[in-house]
Amino acid sequence: MARRRQIYEGKAKVLFEGPEPGTLVQHFKDAATAFNNKKQGVITGKGVINNRISEYLMVRLGEIGVPTHFVRRLNMREQLVREVEIVPIEVVVRNIVAGSLAKRFGMKEGTPLPRSIVEYFYKSDELDDPLITEEHITAFGWATPQDLDEIMSLALRVNDFMSGLFLGVGIRLVDFKLEFGRLWENDQMRIILADEISPDSCRLWDIKTDEKMDKDRFRRDMGNVEDAYQEVARRLGILPESGPTDIKGPKVMQ
Ligand code: UDP
Repeated sequence: MARRRQIYEGKAKVLFEGPEPGTLVQHFKDAATAFNNKKQGVITGKGVINNRISEYLMVRLGEIGVPTHFVRRLNMREQLVREVEIVPIEVVVRNIVAGSLAKRFGMKEGTPLPRSIVEYFYKSDELDDPLITEEHITAFGWATPQDLDEIMSLALRVNDFMSGLFLGVGIRLVDFKLEFGRLWENDQMRIILADEISPDSCRLWDIKTDEKMDKDRFRRDMGNVEDAYQEVARRLGILPESGPTDIKGPKVMQ
């Protein structure tokens, strides 16, 4: 079989040319990185789980009218998505103080915020994804004020919906990161949700114990990373009890 043309390789995903024009295949890897690549590792089975979790969340969001790039899942590690022009901004929505917000303002992690906060970061590995304001975004032409209105309103809808969805399975949605893309259809441009939504890009805490069920377990060397990701999928009801089947189990050596 002819090898597919690789369009892009990121830290956790690879994008290949899709079967039809305007589509891409998004392949989820087990590789994990943190602190802008300074920490690298492998979370066995992560790609399989994130493929499923992201599919599930994108489909649910699509059902409430949030436009997304997701088309369909192709196999254990791959999904077909619409090709978009990525807006070079990471949109972070926060409900509870954690991570860089806690550090920036010297606040205690776990403090509930009086209202959800939306932050923007410029996507640039060289610059370490700096925090930016709407002024930077519009002045530097990364997005127009209309694009930003749409992005902000979609991000808040995603937050409302996902907060409720996770609450229903005993998980607190602390914060998360979204990426958006531009999709052109007959000279009309639409902003749609792109990339992935998974425990790599969300902070998820157990409602009863506050136990972390996300990439912070990897970032902070807390152990049981695989189990935490699997538990999120299990609670969402999207993992076969036996777990991902393309993961090689222990082999008897002859
Ligand atoms: N996040 C992400 N990719 C990034 C930076 C952050 O997915 O490059 C997510 C992160 O998992 C968390 C949220 O965005 O759910 C807020 O992250 P924060 O700004 O606190 O940065 P961090 O502590 O991850 O450096």
